[in-house]
Order: sequence, then structure tokens, then C-alpha cells
Amino acid sequence: MDCLFCKIIAGEIPSTKVFEDEKILAFRDINPQAPSHILVIPKEHIGGVDELNENNSAVVAHIFAKIAEIAKNEGLENGYRVVSNVGEDGGQTVRHLHFHIIGGAKLNTQMA
Ligand code: 5GP
Ligand code: ZN
Repeated sequence: MDCLFCKIIAGEIPSTKVFEDEKILAFRDINPQAPSHILVIPKEHIGGVDELNENNSAVVAHIFAKIAEIAKNEGLENGYRVVSNVGEDGGQTVRHLHFHIIGGAKLNTQMA
């Protein structure tokens, strides 16, 4: 499958990893929008939030269980934002489910 994040998981494209276990990978965004910008992805290929269902969504609970840990290790005790863009209107550019962790500065509060 021609998926950029599957290639990162496979090690075919290098990334700066911040956390990894058997189910998920967290790595630094190549084009950070804030001082800290980390992407958290499942190792299983899921296209986006719009492909989640009762059979494949357990990994999302696992991702969120680790996000607090990752943010703490990153020193984001003053807060951060978790975002998942979905589809064309949502501005999703990589069709592999990912959650952005953005922080390290006071963020713009505009939602759309
Ligand atoms: P989206 O726009 O789909 O919500 O987020 C995709 C993110 O992936 C973008 O923030 C973009 O900067 C990041 N990205 C795209 N290509 C690469 C890459 O090759 N390596 C890393 N680390 N991040 C990437
Ligand atoms: Zn993929």
C-alpha cells in the first residue's frame, strides 16, 4: 500500500520517534506548527476517523491512554491540543489515522 505513515512505521522513511510500542508510534511532525508537534498513529492502517468502527477503535483508547504520558514527557504541563483532521474538508493530507499533539506555546483558539 502506498501510504506514507505505513512507510514510516516500516522504517522505510526516517522519523524522529518519541514513543513506540507494539500498537502505536509517536514521532515529530516534519513541519511543526508549534514548538512541540507530535503525531500519534496506530500501526494498523486505518484511513482516518471516518474509518473507525466498533471493530477497530480500541487502538484509539490506547492512543489516548498514551497521549497524556507523551505530553508529560514533552514538558507540556501547561496544556496542549489534540487534533485529528478528517477528509478533504477537514484538511487531512495523509490518509492514515493520526492525532496531532500541539503545544509548547499559547495556541490560537480559532476552531475553523
Ligand atoms: P494532516 O494534514 O493529514 O492532518 O497531517 C499530516 C501531517 O503529517 C502534517 O502536519 C505534515 O507536516 C506531516 N508530515 C507529512 N509528511 C511527513 C513526513 O514525511 N514525516 C513527518 N514526520 N511528518 C510528515
Ligand atoms: Zn498507512
